[in-house]
Amino acid sequence: MQRISILGATGSIGQSTLNVAALHRESIEIYALGAGSNVDALYQLCCQWQPHYAAMANIDAAHQLEQQLKAIGSRTQVLAGESGMAEIASLPEVDSVMAAIVGAAGLVPTMAAVNAGKRVLLANKEALVMSGELFIRAAEKSGAQIVPVDSEHNAIFQCLPVQAQQQIGACDLDAAGISHILLTGSGGPFRQRPLETFAAITPAEAIAHPNWSMGPKISVDSATMMNKGLEYIEARWLFNTRPEQLKVVIHPQSVIHSMVQYQDGSVLAQLGQPSMQTPIAYALSYPHRMASGVAPLDFTQVGTLSFEAPDFARYPCLSLAIEACHQGQVATTTLNAANEEAVAAFLSGRIDFDQIAAVNAQVLTTLPQASADDLESLMAVDTMARTLAQVEIGKRLR
Ligand code: NDP
Repeated sequence: MQRISILGATGSIGQSTLNVAALHRESIEIYALGAGSNVDALYQLCCQWQPHYAAMANIDAAHQLEQQLKAIGSRTQVLAGESGMAEIASLPEVDSVMAAIVGAAGLVPTMAAVNAGKRVLLANKEALVMSGELFIRAAEKSGAQIVPVDSEHNAIFQCLPVQAQQQIGACDLDAAGISHILLTGSGGPFRQRPLETFAAITPAEAIAHPNWSMGPKISVDSATMMNKGLEYIEARWLFNTRPEQLKVVIHPQSVIHSMVQYQDGSVLAQLGQPSMQTPIAYALSYPHRMASGVAPLDFTQVGTLSFEAPDFARYPCLSLAIEACHQGQVATTTLNAANEEAVAAFLSGRIDFDQIAAVNAQVLTTLPQASADDLESLMAVDTMARTLAQVEIGKRLR
């Protein structure tokens, strides 16, 4: 029996994880569930799954949940705040932690799981974007096993030799015979939209991804390709790549989820339906395989697979992220924080779509490039970048 704790249980990844777990009740126990502030959604999940623990980052929400669960005689113990989230990430009874909180808020709880030496099923990309080096070092120290859940990184992981899979964060790609990691991305809903109409893009258009169904923040990031940029940074840390070993390829059909190119000319790719239940099932069962509830790929229905190079004029956020990746953790933390603020401003109708990249670029160039090699200093960089982003957003209000 594998006992799991799901951080971000009420979100898109959380729900997909529970869908997979529902197919394997004999081997997976939902031990703890965590969310931010959505009391009704977590209450429903607690009734359904009866976990030992539930945690809510928002303290008032946690109190409300506690009262509602008490009223029905539930055995679930409710924890509150960031420390409550960190606690369910490090419970001694828990084997695996699904790290699926959205944004920088996921950093501290995910790090708690790493420090506790858990098997960490990593969906929250911000943990690596903000603190890749610290994160990998902490995993080495505690012996935590990192299994990537993000579909591209999960695909790459599946295409690696076993030895490299077991050295996440420190693998020697040259020694493994690997020449390139090929990170594929669909190009989002605006791959062919005329550039001069970008300012008029609405939030509803931006979150309507052509292939994947995801939460709103990551959907906007897919439209700007900031998501691919964050994944580039994530891949750099997970697979210990040098800049010339990591390439982004546009593949509009999202059938191939990423590839590994070997020195002998072979390319291994992972293909499948665009459903997160496949990488989640793989992460839950690694090194074995189990059913995910996803329909098999029917090659007679797939049609043409096409590939192209990314157009950086169309996707300025992608080039900003690659640039930040080469600069280091302070730059990637800055960019991530600015982008979270800019995307939230776009989603609430305060700035235009094309201003997301403008805010990000301005914050990245304005913030002093100090060094930060612990979590506290990185969190301070995050706060500073958000403040600056709000100033930049204020200058661009619609
Ligand atoms: P959603 O927006 O759908 O869900 C976010 C989850 O995080 C919710 O459970 C939310 O709780 C919780 N949350 C928000 N703020 C906090 C907080 N301060 N403390 C604790 N929990 C919080 O996001 P997704 O599921 O789409 O994405 C989750 C992560 O996985 C992101 O990092 C994303 O980049 C990554 N990812 C997502 C993919 C996808 O297909 N969706 C694919 C690959 C990676 P509440 O409901 O209470 O607000």
